[in-house]
Amino acid sequence: MLILVINCGSSSLKYTLFKHEQEIASGLVERIGTETAVYTRQVRGKKQSALTMSVPNHERAIRLMMEYLGRDNLVRRPEDIEAVGHRVAHGGPNFTDSALVDERVRNNQIARDLAPLHQVNYDGIEAALKLLPQQPQVAVFDTAFHQTMPAKAYTYALPYRFFTELKIRKYGFHGTSHKYVSLRAAQLLKKTARRINVITLHLGNGSSLAAIQKGKCIDTSMGLTPLAGVVMGTRSGDIDPAIVTYLMEKEGLSAAEVENLLNKKSGILGVSGISNDLREVIKQAGKGNARAKLCLQVLAYSIQKYIGAYHAILGGVDALVFTAGIGEKSPMVRKLICDGLQGLGVKLDVGKNRKTIAQEKAIHAAGSKIKILVIPTREEYMIAQETRRIIHKAKK
Ligand code: AMP
Repeated sequence: MLILVINCGSSSLKYTLFKHEQEIASGLVERIGTETAVYTRQVRGKKQSALTMSVPNHERAIRLMMEYLGRDNLVRRPEDIEAVGHRVAHGGPNFTDSALVDERVRNNQIARDLAPLHQVNYDGIEAALKLLPQQPQVAVFDTAFHQTMPAKAYTYALPYRFFTELKIRKYGFHGTSHKYVSLRAAQLLKKTARRINVITLHLGNGSSLAAIQKGKCIDTSMGLTPLAGVVMGTRSGDIDPAIVTYLMEKEGLSAAEVENLLNKKSGILGVSGISNDLREVIKQAGKGNARAKLCLQVLAYSIQKYIGAYHAILGGVDALVFTAGIGEKSPMVRKLICDGLQGLGVKLDVGKNRKTIAQEKAIHAAGSKIKILVIPTREEYMIAQETRRIIHKAKK
């Protein structure tokens, strides 16, 4: 039986079809809402193909996906699909685990209010329910894995009523990725997840770290929204909150303009003035560009400080786990981060680090007190696993 994984972005639809553990097809519809949407699809063992067409909304994109899964002979009837798993960025305070889509999920108003940009995840669920009404659907929340955080970690020091009335607290994101790489790290270390402490570093265009104690997340760097934490592609990460009001006054910016500035124009792009893509910044740093060099230092420093803090709260760390675009593919940034952690007994094997690009590998030197692992993340695979687990649980 097949599991279909759907990930709706603001103007995109990404999907992956799994047969048992194997990915048999995937696709991406970009520029949804325009006359020139691009639909790229890949069937295992075949050449990738791309089409340009008008795709007015996500419902049409899902219809298109189903049509081509049929044409490619992968899904002949909707019943071939055992279940649909949806990536949902924000689950709000009420979901501590992935969940079968029911009225509770569909009417999760608090999560919609907290993450207006991710309402589209819920729109995707509605469209899939319409087109595949008989198939069970599962929501896999990016926030769920972090729900084990204790109150002392998720409470902001604001007047308490903002927590009780508006549910303002730390939620954290990238939970599916943190969960996958932490479980995989345990397998690679030949231990059960309950016996180890790890710090997972999901470093991509959006980045977050998680402190995972005996399999449970006890803290993470993103907050109410994905804006908090370490320096990211275009997001500032942690800044003095007073900067917000200062900028509003000094530059005459509205709330929406400051939000846009902090989410879209800051981070690696803001400091370097070059790009949000770290590859470009590394290239320019190599040519002696001072701002590019500074940007790399600011980035690594922001990550080192979180590692130090998480080392302290975990009471000992078995492994650092690097994942996502930068974590998997940039030996240079991994070295920059690890070189500042000698005080914790972190020792990188420079040769192994250099050779490890987008593959699963241990890159610490002999005698390192903390192991260093690179584990490519598999969020779609994890969503498929979660979907299977939830529907089997529901059948019991
Ligand atoms: P992700 O969001 O996980 O897809 O990561 C995308 C980001 O990873 C890009 O914006 C780049 O900044 C970064 N990236 C990808 N490949 C490399 C590389 N070889 N070196 C440095 N950064 C990279």
